[in-house]
Amino acid sequence: MINPKRASSKKDCSIEEHSQIKNDRLSDEEAVIRELIKKYDIPSPRYTSYPTADRFIDSESSDDYLHYLRQRRTVIGPLSIYVHIPFCDNICYYCACNKIVTRDKTVSTRYLDSMEKEIALKSPFFSGSRVVKQLHLGGGTPTFLNRAELLRLMHSIAVNFHLVDDEDREYAIEVDPRTVSVETISLLAGLGFNRISMGIQDFDEAVQAAINRKQSYESIVDLVQAVREFGFKSLNFDLIYGLPLQSVESMTETMDKVIALSPDRISVYNYAHLPDRFTSQRQIDRYSLPSANVKLLMAKLIQQRLLDAGYCSIGMDHYAKPDDELSQALNEGSLQRNFQGYATTLSTETIAFGVSAISSHSDSYRQNVRELERYQGLLDKGRLPIGRHLILSKEDKLRRFIITTLACQLCLDFAMVKQQCDVDFMSHFQAELTHLKSMEQEGLLILSNTAITLTTLGRQLIRNICQVFDQYHSAEASRHSQAI
Ligand code: SF4
Repeated sequence: MINPKRASSKKDCSIEEHSQIKNDRLSDEEAVIRELIKKYDIPSPRYTSYPTADRFIDSESSDDYLHYLRQRRTVIGPLSIYVHIPFCDNICYYCACNKIVTRDKTVSTRYLDSMEKEIALKSPFFSGSRVVKQLHLGGGTPTFLNRAELLRLMHSIAVNFHLVDDEDREYAIEVDPRTVSVETISLLAGLGFNRISMGIQDFDEAVQAAINRKQSYESIVDLVQAVREFGFKSLNFDLIYGLPLQSVESMTETMDKVIALSPDRISVYNYAHLPDRFTSQRQIDRYSLPSANVKLLMAKLIQQRLLDAGYCSIGMDHYAKPDDELSQALNEGSLQRNFQGYATTLSTETIAFGVSAISSHSDSYRQNVRELERYQGLLDKGRLPIGRHLILSKEDKLRRFIITTLACQLCLDFAMVKQQCDVDFMSHFQAELTHLKSMEQEGLLILSNTAITLTTLGRQLIRNICQVFDQYHSAEASRHSQAI
C-alpha cells in the first residue's frame, strides 16, 4: 500500500488542500468544461473494435473456426499479424492488461512451443502471396523474451508468412524500457521492426514508486538515442495521467522531459481506478489519486504542451508530429483504427497469436482463450485455442463504420453512409439524433442535414460521441474504463 503520509506530505501540501487550490484555479471556461466532463465521465469503450470484445460469446470450437477459415471467400489484400506475449517481470499497480507476472524465464520457451503450433495450424489459410503490411508484438511485455527467443519467434513468422522490408511496412513492438538494452534495440531493428512503443507513463520518481514502475530518465535517453541511431521510423511514448501522487507541477516536469526527447507519437491515457475489477490497483491508495479538477488541468496541460510543441491531435488519446504518417493520414482522410489503435492502412484481416489475442475478419472476430494452461493444453492436442467469437450482423457493420469514421475522420458524411452501407442516416438513426442534438447544444459537435462534425471540445469527448452509436454500451458500460 502507498503510505498515506507519504502521499499527503508531497510538496508539503495535502491532497485535499492541493485539490482545493487547483479547484480555485479553474477559469469560467474550464469550469464549464469541468461540468461537461463530469456529465460525460461515464465508463466508455476505446472502440479499437466494434462491437467491443466484451460482447464476444463462448460458443465456437476449433473445428468451427477451421471450417470458417476453409470456406470463407478468398481474401486478397495485405495481412496484419498480432502476437501477444503475456509475461511481465513485475506488476505495475495501475495495470489493467491481461498479463502473467513471473520471474520464471523458462515459461517463454513452452509458450513459444505452443505459439509455433498455433502458427502452423493457422498459416495455411492465409495465402503466401498476401504480404504482411502490419505486424505488432504486444503484451504483457514482448521484451520479456530474450534475444534468442525474439529471433526464434520472428523466424517462425517469417517462414510461414510473407514479411516485407518495404519502407511503408508497419512492424511495431511494445517495449518496457526496464527490460531492454541498446543491444536489444539493435536486434529489433535487425529483425525488421521499424516502430517502437515505449511505456513511459511518468518521469516523476515519486509517481514511479507509487505505481511500482521505476525507470530512470537517463536510461530512457540512452534508449531513445539508440532508436534514432538504428533508424526506426517511429517512436511512440505512452503516458498516463490520473496516477497516484501526480500533480500539475509534476506533470509539467514530465512533459518538459517528454518534449525534449521528441518522440514521433504520444499516446495519452487517463488512469481509471477500478480496484474491484483489477486487483493490482488495490495497492494504490485512493487518497493519493489526483482530484477530478487536477486531472482536468493535467489533461489540458498535456494537450497544450504538445500542441505548442507542434504535435497534431489524432482523434482518441493520440498525438503525432505533423510529418508523421498518422498526421498525414488524418489530413488525407485515410486514417484507420484497429485493435492496436490508429494505423495508416487497414489490412483486410488480422491474424492473432497467443493467449487472449483477437483475430479479425471482415464479418467476425475470434479471441483466443485467456488462460495460459488452457491455451497450451489445446494446442498440445492439435486444436485451435479459440475462446470466444462474434459474427457481426448487418447492423453491427453499419455502426462499426460510423464509429470508426468518427474516431478517424472526426466527422461523418451521411452520403458516405448511404454509399458504403446503403442506409439513409436521418431515417435510420432517429433515436440517436436526439442525443446528437443535445450534444450540439453543449458545443460538442455540429449537426447538419448532411454531416456530423466534431468541435475542438467534442474531440475531448470523442468516445462519448461514438458511444451514441453503440447498441450494446448501456447494458454493461461499467466494464470499460473511464472515458476521460
Ligand atoms: S503495465 Fe505493462 S509491464 Fe506493467 S504489468 Fe501491465 S502489461 Fe506488464
